[in-house]
Amino acid sequence: MFILKGIDQLTNAIAKAKKVRPRVEFDHFGRYRVSGSKGYYTVICRKDERGYKTVACTCKGAEKGLACYHAAAALSLHIGLARQQQTA
Ligand SMILES: [Zn+2]
Repeated sequence: MFILKGIDQLTNAIAKAKKVRPRVEFDHFGRYRVSGSKGYYTVICRKDERGYKTVACTCKGAEKGLACYHAAAALSLHIGLARQQQTA
C-alpha cells in the first residue's frame, strides 16, 4: 500500500503499464482487477480517514510500498471515473 501524493511517483509505473498493457477490469468504484505475470491482482483506491489517497495492490511490489504498474493502470481508470462522477 502506498499513499498517492502526486503523479510524479507514478512516472515509472505508468511507463511500464504502457509497455505491458495489463487488462484492467472494473469491479466497483475504487476496486479493480489488473492482470499481471501471475494472474490477476486486486487494486483498491480509496481515501483514508485523514484524506490521503491510498492505493493498495495485492502484488509483491506494492506490499513493500512500491508504486506498481497495476496500480498505475487501475488509477488511470479510477481517476477517469472519479472525474465523471464529479461532473455528473
Ligand atoms: Zn501491483
